[in-house]
Amino acid sequence: MTCEIHEECGVFGVFNAKHAAELSYYALHAMQHRGQEGCGIVASDGETLRGHRNLGLVKEVFDQKQLDRLVGNNAIGHVRYATCGGSNHSNIQPFLYYHSTGDFALCHNGNIVNSRLLREMFEKAGSIFQSTSDSEILAHLITKRAYGKRTDALLEACRQLEGGFAFLVLTKDKLYAMRDRYGLRPLSLGKMGDGYVVASETCAFDVIGAEFIRDIKPGELIKITSEGIESSFYQEERLNKMCAMEYIYFSRPDSDINGINIHLSRKAAGRQLAKECPCVADIVIGVPDSSLSAANGYSEVSGLPLETGLIKNKYMGRTFIEPSQELRERGVKMKLSPIRSVVKDKRVVVIDDSIVRGTTSRQIVQMLREHGAKEVHMRIASPEMIAPCFYGVDTSTYEELISAGNSVEKVREIIGADSLGFLSKEGLLKAVGASDLCMACFDSKYPTPLFEDITKANKDGK
Ligand code: AMP
Ligand code: SF4
Repeated sequence: MTCEIHEECGVFGVFNAKHAAELSYYALHAMQHRGQEGCGIVASDGETLRGHRNLGLVKEVFDQKQLDRLVGNNAIGHVRYATCGGSNHSNIQPFLYYHSTGDFALCHNGNIVNSRLLREMFEKAGSIFQSTSDSEILAHLITKRAYGKRTDALLEACRQLEGGFAFLVLTKDKLYAMRDRYGLRPLSLGKMGDGYVVASETCAFDVIGAEFIRDIKPGELIKITSEGIESSFYQEERLNKMCAMEYIYFSRPDSDINGINIHLSRKAAGRQLAKECPCVADIVIGVPDSSLSAANGYSEVSGLPLETGLIKNKYMGRTFIEPSQELRERGVKMKLSPIRSVVKDKRVVVIDDSIVRGTTSRQIVQMLREHGAKEVHMRIASPEMIAPCFYGVDTSTYEELISAGNSVEKVREIIGADSLGFLSKEGLLKAVGASDLCMACFDSKYPTPLFEDITKANKDGK
């Protein structure tokens, strides 16, 4: 299978705060769950941009010597998720460019759906790309407009990009933060002393002692300088379609997105699931870590005792990182272990946040049975995933999505559970409490044009 590299990542920026690189280190560490393939930081001392990036976890890539070299009070950083294909150093961000209009660095979370078209346009005009990442397109769009204000160049660049994105651009004395006009990818703004911070998730603010101000709005560009903050919008028409998967799976439970706490929204999803898909059983267990909040809610409403039935090996990465199905299956077993004394002779309700390919559920059902569970009932705190994501979340292709071609009963049979139930789409919206969300992977209603034939895109592995 050929495969596009998706940008499923976390971004962080800080302006006017001492030890900006060190603050970035801690913030990226707090967002490590958003990407484990590689990471990087670029810092500015007002004159020079210096960067370091590599494959590996934040704590592996940076040591004190590296951080000391990244001098300055301004910085941006990035953690990158490898979703497909091999690890590639050239795709690790931030990208750093030296240019006659002024040096700059950029990093990005999301996916640009018209990237192929834009890339072809630039390549035909003689441009050369350093990576396969679509983030680099922004650099070309910025430098295309060689004269005039950088803010105007960025606003114009954003107008040409379609898809989901949260972009940060650092120049020697300015920090820019931009969010797509559909509001698909999260980006929050915070304050730290006299300075400002921006991050994909608010958990990054807590760890460095920054104070949350507000979420950056869909279609907004924020410019941060020593004078303060300036806000502009690159488009009149804007939506508020935050990615539902941020609430369901991606974000950390202690983060808030659009004023909604992730743990509480997952717990509400679990409560709603108990109402929609009740079960006669002895205990409820959650799949650690992302489903523990939902299991809590399910237990609360069903009255079934919440137990710790599965233990997670903390030192494993997420199973999606494994490229082949065989490795992925082994990954689940290495990652999760049932507690025999808890599940033996019990009718167990297992709460998981989602079923994508079905690998995790199938392995869990099998492992629980091997450890003596009498019955295994799967309850999923999100709807059936029937369509791929084009906005930067690796939810796989149509062919691999187990619910795309199979009924609930057929999926139950494949994963080997005694019963299976999914949260409804209405139930999910109600649980999150948001007025609107992107739920395209559950209802195929993509908020943006996709610029390519979806079936063909999937054959290509996108
Ligand atoms: P699967 O085993 O393919 O059915 O994937 C489902 C499991 O992966 C669930 O336990 C989720 O917690 C997790 N998951 C869901 N979405 C993603 C994603 N985009 N990236 C990585 N893991 C995911
Ligand atoms: Fe999120 Fe799914 Fe929309 Fe992608 S399609 S942005 S994963 S809700």
